Amino acid sequence: MARYTGPVCKLCRREGVKLMLKGERCFSPKCAIERRNFPPGQHGQSYRRRQLSDYGVQLREKQKVRRIYGVLERQFRRHFAAASRMKGITGSNLLQTLERRMDNVVYRLGFADSRSQARQLVRHGHFMLNGRKTDIPSALVKVGDELTVRSQSRSRTYFKDLDASGILRKKGIPEWLLLDPTALSGRIIRLPERGELDLAVNEQLVVELYSR
Ligand code: SF4
Repeated sequence: MARYTGPVCKLCRREGVKLMLKGERCFSPKCAIERRNFPPGQHGQSYRRRQLSDYGVQLREKQKVRRIYGVLERQFRRHFAAASRMKGITGSNLLQTLERRMDNVVYRLGFADSRSQARQLVRHGHFMLNGRKTDIPSALVKVGDELTVRSQSRSRTYFKDLDASGILRKKGIPEWLLLDPTALSGRIIRLPERGELDLAVNEQLVVELYSR
C-alpha cells in the first residue's frame, strides 16, 4: 500500500494542531506549529480561519485521524468499513482498528519514535508476529499476539542502542500492551479502550462524514 511521502509538518499546520508525526522534534522548539502556526502555502499567513461548514468540520477531523495514523484514503475507508461491520460504536471501533495496525503497535511499544519510523522498521522486516516474519504495516494484531524483533535484526546498531540505552524501559507503554525490554518483544494483552487513547479527535465526526 502506498503512503504519504511529502512534508509532514505541513499537515500539522493545515490542521492547526500538533499531530506528532516527527518523534522527538515534535517536543522541541523546532516544531513548525511552535514557529509558524498558520496554514502552509503562499497565502497561509494572510489566511483567516473561516467558520467551517458542517462538512468542512467533518472532513478536517477525518483528515486529522488519517494523518495521525499515516494511512491514505483508500486504506482508511477499508478500516472504516471493517469498523462499521463490528458490534458497538463505529467511531471507537475505527480507532481500535487503527490502533491494532502493526506499525502502530511497534510505535506504542516504544520501538520507534513515530508511526512513520515504525512503519519503516516493519517494512524492512525487523519484526516477527507470533514467530513469523511479518513486514506488512497494516497487518492487524489480535489479543494474545506477540511481536518480537527478529534475531537477525538484534545485532543492528539501532536495536543494540535501543537495548543498551534503556530507552525502552523509560518509555511509557500503554496498559493494553506488555513489553519485555530484554527480549525486545511485546504482547497484546487486551484491546485499548477509547479513554486510554491520547488522541484529541472526535471520531464521531468521521462516522458522520462517511454516513452522508
Ligand atoms: Fe507536527 Fe511534529 Fe512537525 Fe510539530 S514537529 S509540526 S508536531 S510533525
